[in-house]
Amino acid sequence: MTGFADRASEFRPSPVRTVFETALDPAVVSLAGGNPDLSLLPGGSIADLASSLLADRGPEILQYGSGAGTESLRALVVELMARRGSAITQAEVQPLAGSQAGLDLVTKLYCNPRDVVLAEGPTYVGALGVFGSYEVEVRHVDIDREGLDPDEVARALDQLAAEGRRVPFLYTVPTHQNPTGVTLPAERRRALVEVCASRGVLVVEDDPYGMLGFDRSAAAAPTLHSLDPENVIHLGSASKIFSPGLRVGWAVAPAQVRARMQIAAEAVLIHPSVLSQELTVAWLGSPQWPVVLDETIALYRERAEAATAALAAHLGDRAEWTEPSGGFFTWVRFPGTELGDILRRGIAEGVVIVPGAACYADGRSSDAVRVAYSGVSPERIDEGIRRLTAAVR
Ligand code: PMP
Repeated sequence: MTGFADRASEFRPSPVRTVFETALDPAVVSLAGGNPDLSLLPGGSIADLASSLLADRGPEILQYGSGAGTESLRALVVELMARRGSAITQAEVQPLAGSQAGLDLVTKLYCNPRDVVLAEGPTYVGALGVFGSYEVEVRHVDIDREGLDPDEVARALDQLAAEGRRVPFLYTVPTHQNPTGVTLPAERRRALVEVCASRGVLVVEDDPYGMLGFDRSAAAAPTLHSLDPENVIHLGSASKIFSPGLRVGWAVAPAQVRARMQIAAEAVLIHPSVLSQELTVAWLGSPQWPVVLDETIALYRERAEAATAALAAHLGDRAEWTEPSGGFFTWVRFPGTELGDILRRGIAEGVVIVPGAACYADGRSSDAVRVAYSGVSPERIDEGIRRLTAAVR
C-alpha cells in the first residue's frame, strides 16, 4: 500500500522488538531485552489484589477514567518522588501508559521537525525511535564511566547555538543507564542542570532504573528533578519495579506543563488503564512489595556479577565492560574489532544481544554490544557470553 506520510519512513523496526520472537525460543539465550525478572512476584497475592479491586469497585474500574490518571496513583508517585528527594504535589504528576508514552509526549509537545535533541552516546534505543518519529535530529554527547560530562554538554549546546539550531531538551538516563549501566555522580548532576538551565534547555530525566541500585545502604544520587524542578521533566515507570505488561508509568513536571501533557495524552490514550493503575497502587502499597523488591534487586546484583565474571572468563583482555551499580545492563566493548552484523552472527550462535550501533542515531558503527542480564539465570548468562565470544571471533 502506498500513500504514507513522509514521517512514516521514520518508523523503523526496533532492534529489540524485532528479535522478540527469536528471544522466546528456549534454545536461544536472550541477553537482548531489558526484561524484569518476575519470578519472585507472589502471583497469588497479586491475583487476590486484582480480585478484590474488581469485586469492590468493578463498575468504576472498568468504566472510562480520568485523563489525569487515578488519584491513588498520583498520590503514590508523590510518595515515591519524596523518597528520591523531590517534594512535589499531585498537580505535578501525569500518569501514563508506561514511561515510553512520556517520551512520546515530551517530544510531541516540545519538538518541531529538524529541532535537535541532545542525548547520551550511546542512548536508549526506544528513545531514538520516538525522536525519529517526530523528525527530530539527535546529537550525541559521548559518555564516560560516570555518564555525561557537563562541560561536553555545554560545548555541544554552544556549538548548536552557533549553528543556529533549536535545542528543546537534553534527554538523559542518569541512573543505571540504558544501555551502559553507568550512573552520573552528584557533582556532575549539579553541574549538568546548571549548564542546561543557563542555556534555556529543558532536561528530560528518564528514570526507570532509579530504584534498582545494588548497594542498598548507599544513598542514591539525587534525581536531576530534585535539583531543578522547574527545568526538569522526570519520567518514572512501574515496569522495572513491578510489571511492564500492565503499562504504568508517569511524568513529573511543573503543574502547567503537566496540564498540557494531560491534554496531549488524552488525544492518544484517552487515559491509562484504570485497572493497571489501581493494581500498581495496591501492590506497591502492600507490605510485601519492599521485601520482594529487595529480593529481586539481590537477584539482579547476582546476575550482574555473573555477567562480569563470565566476560572475564571468556573474553579476558579482548573486551572491556562497565561494572553496573544497579539496573539491567552492561556495555561490552571490543576495541579495534569490527563487529559488523553481530546481531545475526549472535543468533547463529544461539544468543541475542543489542548491537551497540542501534544505540546511536547517526548510523555510526560501534565496537560494543549491550548485554541485559536482568531476566536470565547465572548459568544461562555464562552460556550466552560463551556464545557471544564465538560470534565475535
Ligand atoms: N526508558 C528507558 C531508559 C527504558 O529502558 C525503558 C524500557 N526499556 C523505557 C523508557 C520504557 O519503559 P516503560 O515500560 O515504562 O514504557
